[in-house]
Amino acid sequence: MRVNTPQVDRHPPEARVQRRRLRACHECDWVSALPPLGSGEKASCPRCSHVLVKRHRYPAQRSMALALSSLIALFVAVSFPFVSFSVSGIGNRIELSQTATTLIAFHQPIVAIAVIMTIVVLPAIYLIGVIWLQFGLLRGHPMPFSRDIARSLARLNPWMMADVFIVGALVSLIKIAGMAQIELGISFWAFSVFAILLLLTTQSIDSDWMWFSLEKEPLAPEGTRTGETAASQGITGCPTCGLINRLPEHGKGRCLRCHERLHPRLPHSLQRTWALLFAAAVMYIPANVYPIMTTTSLGHSSPSTIIGGVVQLMQMGSWPVAAVIFVASVIVPVGKLVALVWLCMVIKHSNELNAQSRTRLYRLTEFIGRWSMVDVFVVAILVALIRAGSLMSITPGPAALAFAAVVVLTMLAAMTFDPRLIWDTPPPRSTRRKTATKETVDG
Ligand SMILES: [Zn+2]
Ligand SMILES: [Zn+2]
Repeated sequence: MRVNTPQVDRHPPEARVQRRRLRACHECDWVSALPPLGSGEKASCPRCSHVLVKRHRYPAQRSMALALSSLIALFVAVSFPFVSFSVSGIGNRIELSQTATTLIAFHQPIVAIAVIMTIVVLPAIYLIGVIWLQFGLLRGHPMPFSRDIARSLARLNPWMMADVFIVGALVSLIKIAGMAQIELGISFWAFSVFAILLLLTTQSIDSDWMWFSLEKEPLAPEGTRTGETAASQGITGCPTCGLINRLPEHGKGRCLRCHERLHPRLPHSLQRTWALLFAAAVMYIPANVYPIMTTTSLGHSSPSTIIGGVVQLMQMGSWPVAAVIFVASVIVPVGKLVALVWLCMVIKHSNELNAQSRTRLYRLTEFIGRWSMVDVFVVAILVALIRAGSLMSITPGPAALAFAAVVVLTMLAAMTFDPRLIWDTPPPRSTRRKTATKETVDG
């Protein structure tokens, strides 16, 4: 091997250590040994089938290239006009940032911050972080603060909503297509490309390889046994880098490798989840009672609630869009609330037979939560775009803030819920497998 060849691109962790590498599953706490993985293979927990490690070919180059190109696409998206509309000779052209700044003009600063953070600021921070990190790994010397950046990346993930925003943009455009002339700008196409590239970037991160390249892998605590839960052995898996750590007597500590806080179970998980769910349920009332936006057309104003908007779309004959809004704004938030309340209630009566399906339900609520933001983005786009005075204009209603709060609170509730509690019952002997399951995936 040449001296200057960075190790990161050719040698996965299993090629650099001989000993077994152990992992404790984040979702069920089961300790298993990672099998040696080739490119495009993943290792899943033998008990709950949660993916423990996914291996890509050339992970550093791949995520570096994807992150760079999505950052360029984002730069184009913020520099050019997003979309323009005209009705009876009066028109308006907006840039991406105006979807947030117009909301501030209508005294909705919190919704404005939520919009600009989730579509531009957080993705930009994330992408710069990925480039910084992978650049250091590729030249063979990690850049300063690499460990802190690597730790923060996973936390940013659920709050980046470029893909949801594009769906929101499509819904808004279909909503007004019949009433005005619409023209898509360069920024619209650039942002669509950016949303796809951002998604690919987040999926390209091989965090096992990344942490190994940054900090190597300290030995698991002596006497760690596979085929048992970590909590029963006084150890725990780090939620960020995966390393198994011994917990101090008082049950709290920090990961040896990445310095993340460690807990055998998330502290006060059920109480916090209950409190957040209650707050979300309370906010759901104003979100539906008050209008989410008011449309003024030829001097006549008509406020519409979330449900009112769906009915209006159905009357216009836009069934697919009505269905998208109904699913995103009604089914998803209500379904998520009900699912999490149910999981909290039945958690004491979980056993090995039903734990698998309950974990699947939990994963689903965690995955779909952010898609409810569609309606908030629709309001942000329409309010910025439709500005033709008394001829035709749209203003935001108080429900926009309440509904954004519901989305954020239910997302936080899913994050504070610790799925390992579902599995905290003694397992029957038959399921005690000790090695993670290996399968081939794409990539
Ligand atoms: Zn598991
Ligand atoms: Zn760690």
